[in-house]
Amino acid sequence: MTERNMALAQLEQGEEAIIQFSDVNKWYGEFHVLKNIDFSVKKGERIVVCGPSGSGKSTMIRCINRLEEHQKGQILVDGIEMNDNLKNIETIRKDVGMVFQHFNLFPHLTILENLTLAPIWVRKTPKKEAEEMAMHYLERVKIANQALKYPGQLSGGQQQRVAIARGLCMKPRIMLFDEPTSALDPEMIKEVLDVMIQLADEGMTMVCVTHEMGFAKTVADRVVFMDAGEIVEANTPHEFFDNPKHDRTQLFLSQIL
Ligand code: ADP
Ligand code: MG
Repeated sequence: MTERNMALAQLEQGEEAIIQFSDVNKWYGEFHVLKNIDFSVKKGERIVVCGPSGSGKSTMIRCINRLEEHQKGQILVDGIEMNDNLKNIETIRKDVGMVFQHFNLFPHLTILENLTLAPIWVRKTPKKEAEEMAMHYLERVKIANQALKYPGQLSGGQQQRVAIARGLCMKPRIMLFDEPTSALDPEMIKEVLDVMIQLADEGMTMVCVTHEMGFAKTVADRVVFMDAGEIVEANTPHEFFDNPKHDRTQLFLSQIL
């Protein structure tokens, strides 16, 4: 082994997988929604998942924090197996933040209360400390001046930034995004993507389902393309966009680019 190869091998060993799917299969009744998914994410990696509507993208990322359960194969998150063990699920949910298309903020709580709820009740953080932390993250998403308003008083882009700040308050090791900009008016997409880019720059491990191909090109370490419940292709953005291997990837790209 040359010195360079040895260095590379060491590097790879050092880069442990923080998410590992091994031959994962899932059915909704008779419908085979995830087919033999093998996939791993290293610490600090930024993954973009794309593919046609109904291809299983949401189902796959929801399996990571067991909002959906798989029936066959193995999912390890941070070395912990996602199975019926409630303690495992609880542990992982504390470590994995999730941002959805429709924000999912509590409408009857203020922005500040939305952010402090889980830290106070799940992490048992003292209220004052939770509020300070909430304000810190609201400042980071540039929305601290809205802390005492209710979600309905904010624009979609602002609500989504609040949702990201809420996720960060749990100090997650992984952030999952499921089409976080799909429900937003075009002029608000950038403000949300900018927050995500900032997170990526800080080294957060991220798995993002998105059709924002500009984001994929500039931020992703790897782009995963799903179709009909399978991972058809996973590659660096450069290879994925400039040299797609599969017919289905080429067809998809020709439709969206
Ligand atoms: P995507 O996020 O790529 O659009 P989804 O993971 O949401 O795809 O859905 C994949 C397929 O599984 C779709 O055909 C969808 O209709 C189906 N599906 C999703 N959720 C359920 C469910 N709870 N019960 C039955 N079928 C579902
Ligand atoms: Mg989806």
